[in-house]
Amino acid sequence: MANSFFTTSLQHTDALIAKALDDEAHRQETQLELIASENMVSRAVLDALGHQITNKTLEGYPGNRFHGGGEFMDVAEQAAIDRAKELFDCAYVNVQPHSGTQANQAVFFALLRPGDRILSLGLQAGGHLSHGAPPNLSGRWFEAAHYNVDAATGRIDCDAVERQAMEFKPALLITGGSAYPREIDFQRLRSIADKAGAMFLVDMAHFAGLVAAGVHPSPLPHADIVTCTTTKTMRGPRGGLILSNNLTWEKKLQSAVFPGVQGSLHSQVIAAKAVCLGEALQPEFKLYGQKLKANAVRLADTLMQRGVKIVSNGTDTHIVLLDLSTSGINGQRAQDALAAGHLTSNKNPIPFDNVKPSEWVGLRLGVGAVTTRGLGEKDLNDVGNMIADLIEAEASGRVEVVAEEVASRIIKICQRYPVYQRLPG
Ligand SMILES: *Cc1c(COP(=O)(O)O)cnc(C)c1O
Repeated sequence: MANSFFTTSLQHTDALIAKALDDEAHRQETQLELIASENMVSRAVLDALGHQITNKTLEGYPGNRFHGGGEFMDVAEQAAIDRAKELFDCAYVNVQPHSGTQANQAVFFALLRPGDRILSLGLQAGGHLSHGAPPNLSGRWFEAAHYNVDAATGRIDCDAVERQAMEFKPALLITGGSAYPREIDFQRLRSIADKAGAMFLVDMAHFAGLVAAGVHPSPLPHADIVTCTTTKTMRGPRGGLILSNNLTWEKKLQSAVFPGVQGSLHSQVIAAKAVCLGEALQPEFKLYGQKLKANAVRLADTLMQRGVKIVSNGTDTHIVLLDLSTSGINGQRAQDALAAGHLTSNKNPIPFDNVKPSEWVGLRLGVGAVTTRGLGEKDLNDVGNMIADLIEAEASGRVEVVAEEVASRIIKICQRYPVYQRLPG
């Protein structure tokens, strides 16, 4: 007889959590995911994440571990490293960071000392918490200043960055963000970093998948170090990567991740990262990248045709950032109106926005998940029109009726693009 500890499924052991997971699966199946930092992983990635390799504890790196029994995990981690090197055409990769934030933390630990100066894209302008925001460790331990976008174009103002860098003299210049929809001039920022005597970090968390697909410039020829997540447009497990073309950082980065800021690795996640990186090397992923960009452009164009303002008047990525300042509603109300129509999104600051989240007038959308699901440009045109309908209805106080109609149309789209076949319990 098998030991039931190893054979009884969650459904039979924990009704509360089994139901929460079931409800979540149902939620994902019956709404369209438009949160720009989300995506949907493949069944193969899920298989790795749910595998008993999670039992394996290892510290160190392939071939140099502190524990025994690591020979198979070495295969998985080495594959993740080799695949990432091939995919991003770079000389160094660390696949162990537990998240994008921890990848950045490890880079700071490798390159900086407490009190050093960092210069990064501001939060209101689309930057990320882990780039020196006051409540984050990076903001407490380093002296951070932030550059902005140009008010008229919504794009990074490189001349202003240069003036600021020459005055502030940061040890590290950072670019990349969570709500910046445009391509970044890496070459220009590299030259600014050189002029100011700074190292240059590009955090490509959001657009890594676009780089991997060859539809977005790579920062690797220009940056000292590049970090990213394997979620978002990479559509892999939750975790981070550190990449570089400059092997002079290798030793410092290796020891900064372990034992610097992390202990044992997350075996199942690293196996899943290898799977996702393998997927990204397939020709289908290039097609995915092309569809991502086309879908985002179609969504932005549709919304602008309907009179909705879009920060920077468009997008070069999967992100479409709505400026609701003239629409009569704020970001929270828009998020709620979309949710009532089975569209999941998030309120967000736009450049020069109020600091209080309750006052933000931005709404961030991304097409990563819906593109994975199979939606095409015609669908994004429909979705864009429904979003415009919901915003108008919310502003004029008749959202209930419109949301009901939108919800039923979105559920039909969801049925046309089904996701995971549920496994029997
Ligand atoms: C999402 C994101 C991160 C952090 O990712 P987590 O895995 O959530 O820690 C870091 N940098 C940028 C620019 C991001 O968008």
